[in-house]
Order: sequence, then C-alpha cells, then structure tokens
Amino acid sequence: MKNDPPSSPGSILLGIPVSPGIRIGKACKVRHRKVAAAYRPIEDPHIDKEIERFEEAVRLSIRQLGKQKSNIDRRKAAGHYFILEAHKLMLQDDMLSRQTTDFIRRNACNAEWALHITVERLTSQFRKIDDDNARKRVADLADVFQRVLENLTGEKREKFHSIDEDAIIVAHNLTPGDATHFYTKPIRGLALERGGKASHIAIVARSMQIPAVMGLADLLDQVPDRTTIIIDGGNGVVIVDPNEEQLAEYIDKQERQARIENRLRSDRDLPAVTLDDARITLRANIESLKELPAVLETGAEGVGLFRTEFIFMDRLSPPTEEEHFSYYRELVEKCVSGPVTIRTLDIGGDKLPAYWPECEEENPALGCRAIRSLYQDSQFFKDQLRALYRASVFGDMRLLLPFVSGPTELSQVLRFLSGTRRELEQEGIAFRAETPVGIMIELPSAAVVADLLAPMAAFFSIGTNDLIQYTLAVDRDSEELSYIYNPMHPAILRLIQTTCRHGEEAGIPVHLCGEMASEPVFTLLLIGLGVTELDAPPSALPYLKEIIRSSTMAEARELAAKALSAPTPGEVEDIVFSEMVKRFPELIGGEF
Ligand code: PEP
Ligand code: MG
Repeated sequence: MKNDPPSSPGSILLGIPVSPGIRIGKACKVRHRKVAAAYRPIEDPHIDKEIERFEEAVRLSIRQLGKQKSNIDRRKAAGHYFILEAHKLMLQDDMLSRQTTDFIRRNACNAEWALHITVERLTSQFRKIDDDNARKRVADLADVFQRVLENLTGEKREKFHSIDEDAIIVAHNLTPGDATHFYTKPIRGLALERGGKASHIAIVARSMQIPAVMGLADLLDQVPDRTTIIIDGGNGVVIVDPNEEQLAEYIDKQERQARIENRLRSDRDLPAVTLDDARITLRANIESLKELPAVLETGAEGVGLFRTEFIFMDRLSPPTEEEHFSYYRELVEKCVSGPVTIRTLDIGGDKLPAYWPECEEENPALGCRAIRSLYQDSQFFKDQLRALYRASVFGDMRLLLPFVSGPTELSQVLRFLSGTRRELEQEGIAFRAETPVGIMIELPSAAVVADLLAPMAAFFSIGTNDLIQYTLAVDRDSEELSYIYNPMHPAILRLIQTTCRHGEEAGIPVHLCGEMASEPVFTLLLIGLGVTELDAPPSALPYLKEIIRSSTMAEARELAAKALSAPTPGEVEDIVFSEMVKRFPELIGGEF
C-alpha cells in the first residue's frame, strides 16, 4: 500500500510574544472598513440643525458607551471598564464637541467633515508626543471618531459578528473599544500586525488569558480567512495552515502541559519547602481584583505585588480617596490566603494615566516617576496613602514603595507616610499603624546601598525588570536591544546577592517580584542567592513550588556560587540552564 506523501509544513511567523498559551483554531480576519467622512456644504439657515444633528450623535454615542459599561463587571474587567469610561469622558469633554461645532459654523460644512478635521488636528497633537500614553490616546480618538461617525451616517463598519467558537482573531490592529468583544465572544487567540506589550489590547489579552502574538508584519496577506492556525503566545509563534506533523506536535505540547499542570495542582496546599527544610514563600503578582480567584486556586500565600497604577490608568479624572479605599478594602478582605502587598502608584516613564498632569521630560525613564511625584504634586500620593491605611484594618496588608534610590529619599517618603498617619489619627479614623512598609530594590543605587536601606524597611522586594534596565542601560521594551537585556549578566547576579546579604544581616525578608521570579529556570539560582520570597503570576507558582520541593538549599547555594564565579552572561547561562534542563526537563520552558 502506498502512503500519502507528507503535506508541506505550514509557514511559521514570528512576532512579539504578548500573552502566553497555545491555541489551535480557525483564523477569523477582522478588517475594519472605515466609515468615510465626506465633505458636504451646508447652507446658512441649516447650520443650527447640522449642529443639533452632531450633538444628537454624540449623545447617542455616550448612551451606547454607558450601556456597554454597565454590561461589564467593573471589578472583573477594570482595565476595559476604564477604557470605555475614557471614551465617554472624551465625548463629554468640551474640547472635541466645541471644536467640531465651531468648525461647522465657521466653514458651513457637514458634521462628519467637521468631526474628521477636529480629530485629525487632535491626533496630530498627540502624535508629537512620543510615548505610549499618547499612542493610546490616538487609538482612543480613532475609536470615538468611528463611533460618532457611525451614529451620524447610520453605516456600520465590519465588526465581530461572524466569530465562531474556535476563532483566532487575525487583524491589522484592534482599537481599545474592540476589546469589548473579548467579553462577549468566544475568542481563542489574537494575532495582530501592530501592537506591542504595552498596548491596551495586550493588557486585556493577558488579564483574560487569551494567547496573543503581535507585531506580525504582513500578517493579513499571509493568512487566508478560516485557515487553521496555531498560536503560541509564550514564544511569539504563529503557524499558518499547519501540516499533520505540526498539529500533532502542538496538540502533544498542549496535552503535556495540561498533564503537568494537573499533577502540580495536587501540591497546591503543600508548603514551598526544600528537602533540607528551608522555607520559601510564594506569592502572586496581580493587577486587578479579577485575578484573585487564580491566587486562591494556585495555593499562593497571598499577593506579593499588586501594581496599583493600572486600576485607574484609563481614567481622565484622578481616582478619589473613596474610590481607592473601596478597591483596596475589597482586595484585602477577599484575599484570605495571606497578606496583600500593595505597591503605591508607580506612575511616570511609560505609565502615564490620562489624569496625570502633563509634564514634559526629555527622558521620562529617568524622570519624575513613582515616589518622585511627591515633589511635584503630593495630592495623588496623599489620597492613595490615606485610602491604603484606612483599608489596612480590613485585612493583612503591606505597603511597598517603588523606585527608591537611596536613604535620603526614603526618609522623606517615610516622613510623608507618618504625616499621613498622624492626620488620620487626628481625624479619629481607624488604621493599622504597624502596617509593614517595604521598598523596591529596582535601581542599581538602592542595591548598592542596601545596607543603609535595610534598617529603614520592613522588607525588600527586588524589581529585576527595572534593575536590569537601569543597570545595563537598556530599555526594557526595546526589541532591538533585547539581547543586552539579560538577567544572567554577572552585574545583576551580584546586585541580587548583595541585596539579599544586607537583607539577611538586618533580619528582613527579601522578595523578588520582577519577571525573573516567574521563570522556573531561575528558581534555584535565586533562592541560592538568598531570595526568601518569589512573587510571580499565579499560573507560574506551581512550577516554582515543584522545583523548590525537589531540591535542597545546599544544591541551590552551590548553583548560585558557580553562577557567580562565571565572568560572562553566556557562561552564567550555560551553568544555570544546563543544570536546570537536566534536572527538570519538563518544567523548564513550561507554558504558562
Ligand atoms: C520591576 O521593575 O521588576 C517591577 C516588578 O516593577 P514594574 O515591572 O512594575 O516596573
Ligand atoms: Mg519597576
């Protein structure tokens, strides 16, 4: 009997890994056919009517956004909720409406054209600002513009109506408003020509655990609609029209992953303790209340890092003390598996909420970030701190201060904290005065003077994401320079080691909450260097626990000593990777 010849392999496209996970499904191409705005003159007697038509379309758009918002559970999907809120505020804002109506009046033209010109002007102003936040505002504007235009013309651009159960969305780009469909349609994965890790869509995809690959050039030309595609979000791989062999390989990968995860899940309630009885704490990193169930399911002993800047990111007005308070209260009340470490706002650099005062900086990464905002406008910090202290009586809470550079700055911030506590005391408001206050060690200067900082802090939390960026002087988001951004650089290992040593001498725990903690390949090295707590996304924790429970601290220290003696990142990698792959072949490079 003659065998069929093997079919040729599907093409492999490489993009930016944005949200991990493997999915196999049918490509569903979403092309936005934009509703066009054409020029039409309006005769003078009809201008008021034209303005009224525009204002009615804006009111309708606001009502639609309000309805969409009320269909979304704000607690479960805070990011998206606030995107819709931002769009609504943009429409309510006088600037867009006034400029459009002025244009209609001055130029005696139709509302569609006037809106088009207004949006173009605003867009070009945002484009002059080269940062992620301004890029998001451009996307928001485009979305708002299309919505009003649809309401003016009654035309609809192509949307997500034809999405089936197994759809993997393939598109040039998605607008923030499109993310609404992620909550109502069964989307399996996302492959986009545009976008990066910091985009709104990337944030929503990650928080909903939708595997996503972005930055795939010419994707739409290479993927026929309804073709089978494989998406491997952790590795940034998309396979178009895979052959039997490729399909079998990825189905096998998925099954292997599921089996490992089931096995690891059975250790959920066991402590992360080494074979020679060293206890390591494992806590979860989360960015929204929505992720709390995952914290409890994976056996995390509480939350190691709660980044507060994202919850109110898309607001045009700053959150009030009450809004902060009700969020944190719910968080600490619901997290029954251990303490919640809440980091105060780490705003600045590439993380600029719409409500943040404009501040032009030549070099925002080195500018007025995080606790430094105290020197600009202390009210944001004050509102948050008061809310945090008020919430502290409702559960087990710890505070974490980001971007500390040295003892002088830390003393100033600690003085501000004690001033806030005094204020609450005078007002007779309950709070837990002994709430532990820890500091991030994410600047090289802080690591170098860790001995001076340790007596001032309840714990250290090493932020390797920034520590690597600032030590090696390489942008953490740069694709081109990612080969320099290496956690295995000897300078990074030494800074972690010195931080751990000074933490230990002062008798304080040393956590590590950067992405490095979430990679099982680094687990033994990190505990060998002296890290006492690893904070990672919930799905990574079972992997870390398995490694800890199958090793001794003596082995971990030996591995760390060998790694520290190697002179180059490549040699450190050889030492660490070869040992870990040999010992834990199925856990290293795991998909989570
Ligand atoms: C870090 O820098 O490692 C960190 C955890 O903080 P972020 O990623 O929020 O800057
Ligand atoms: Mg950081």
